[in-house]
Amino acid sequence: MSNTNSSIGLANVLYIDLTNETSKVVERQDLIDTYLGGTGVATMLMHEEFKEGTDALAPESPIVFSIGPLSGIFPCCTKVVAMFRSPLTGEFGESHAGGRLAMAMRFAGCSSVVITGRAKRPVYITIHNNEIAFKDASSIWGLSSTTDIGKILRNVEPNIGKRSIIRIGSAGENGVRYASVNVDTYRHFGRLGLGAVFGSKNLKAIEISGDGEIEVPDINVYSKIYKEIFTNIVETDLMEKYHNLGTTENILPLNELSGLPTRNLQQTFFEYAETISGENFADNYLVRKISCANCPIGCIHIAMLKTSFGHSHEYEVRHISYDYELVYALGTNLGVLTPEGVLELIDRCEQYGVDIISVGVVLGWATEMSMQKKFTNEETKGVSLKWGDVKNYLLAIDLIIESPNEFYSALAKGVVFASKKYGGEDFAIHAGGLEIPGYHTGVGNLIGLSVGVRHSHLDNGGYSIDQKAFKGDLSDEDIVDTLIFEDDIRGALTSITICLFARGIYTYGTIIEALAAVGIERSEEELVKLGKDIFMKKYELKRKFGFSLDDVTFPSRFFETASTNGMIDEARVQNMLSMYKKKRWGAGGE
Ligand code: SF4
Repeated sequence: MSNTNSSIGLANVLYIDLTNETSKVVERQDLIDTYLGGTGVATMLMHEEFKEGTDALAPESPIVFSIGPLSGIFPCCTKVVAMFRSPLTGEFGESHAGGRLAMAMRFAGCSSVVITGRAKRPVYITIHNNEIAFKDASSIWGLSSTTDIGKILRNVEPNIGKRSIIRIGSAGENGVRYASVNVDTYRHFGRLGLGAVFGSKNLKAIEISGDGEIEVPDINVYSKIYKEIFTNIVETDLMEKYHNLGTTENILPLNELSGLPTRNLQQTFFEYAETISGENFADNYLVRKISCANCPIGCIHIAMLKTSFGHSHEYEVRHISYDYELVYALGTNLGVLTPEGVLELIDRCEQYGVDIISVGVVLGWATEMSMQKKFTNEETKGVSLKWGDVKNYLLAIDLIIESPNEFYSALAKGVVFASKKYGGEDFAIHAGGLEIPGYHTGVGNLIGLSVGVRHSHLDNGGYSIDQKAFKGDLSDEDIVDTLIFEDDIRGALTSITICLFARGIYTYGTIIEALAAVGIERSEEELVKLGKDIFMKKYELKRKFGFSLDDVTFPSRFFETASTNGMIDEARVQNMLSMYKKKRWGAGGE
């Protein structure tokens, strides 16, 4: 790979075979021409690489990473899309991460990376421009802290250029089905268990760096559009929310609207919300805000947690990133009412490298079960969970990662598996097998999570449609139409790997201008069609993995706890799901 003009690296797919420790680069202009990059290209590479019936943790199971045509070139085009078969749900695995990874891939000259096989020993991969090496990771395998792994690799791999280090912790090594992949310390491929797939391949980390150059067709046109986008971000109020309090700004409004899942969704109002609100974190714990590479927003909020460890005023200081979903999962959902308690729990999960939302939901379900005395002392190893008990939640997290017995192994497989084995399925709060991310706003959210390809609130933003419905009149058909519209526009945005927080900046008009500045001509109609096509291609993959919307079931807890828009009627949800299927796939359904 060499980087001498604008298109270099845009079409290069780096294929890595861990079993034989070999690699090759193939130019795939055909994929870029049709699907641009990101979710579109990753979906097509998964179609090519995934052989039907392959287990998520089998050596042949592929991992695909893709960036987009504007990565490293325009502000907020920061995401890398990862695709894999999820070991948590058994079906479609898609996760997005920021940090420096997209920039490093771009300057190393590869737009996608496909990884298959299983290394015979623990390894980490280094990619520097066109040099690929497989290195022994036995000395860092088993280290309990993802932060320390990053520090070690930064020291032993002093590659120059723009660099990113992604790695797993003990959760991924031990096969916890919702293990994450840490990206540059404060970002993650968080959801659906990519960390466990890394672990199953004996792949500890990837360090990638590059020092190539990108040329654009007309530097004056590029500079003008860059400046317009940059100015729109930093000199208007459009992104202020994300920079100011960050996503934790949502805690108090959602609480007031009764949409904040609390104590395993037994309530949607947390009486101590003020103490763990974005405002309180910002006033008393926030020490800095940082950004993904090439983003001027700075939405990543870092808190300082100072803990005493000696008699003579000895302190340990930890810097911990926090977000709305994390504060919900380990705060309101577990009845934890102090910022220190929430930060302790976040930090423990971060060091193990595990999806914090899934941990919070698994522990919420386990707390209800525990309080109903459904587990034996032998099963829990004496850890008795109750709401707000941080000390025992920390012990439970340690045991889930360690999985010393059948009980904790079940918890490490997610809330669906654990509740099927031990009971309490009615209050195992998941959608499509994925633990829910913290919004109980109404039918839009529930249907959005069910139909979304990742079962994520970011697929179509159903929670925000509910908030609009709360303020005014939206018919059921309006809600379904908006979900489809959002699914499709987000398909186009994520094929370009634009951070979804910046979707207000990147209108169709801006996207068209930015693409033109790097020599790609697309009309609004073509982008709309692209979003729809990607959605359909992903559903083809989902079917290969065994998913059908007809099989979706809902825990009854969703219909027993009032949402922002009141009680949710199950029959109404089923009717709207049918309406969605009809609008998407016609009378014949999915
Ligand atoms: S808004 Fe936040 S998550 Fe998005 S690119 Fe910027 S720093 Fe990263």
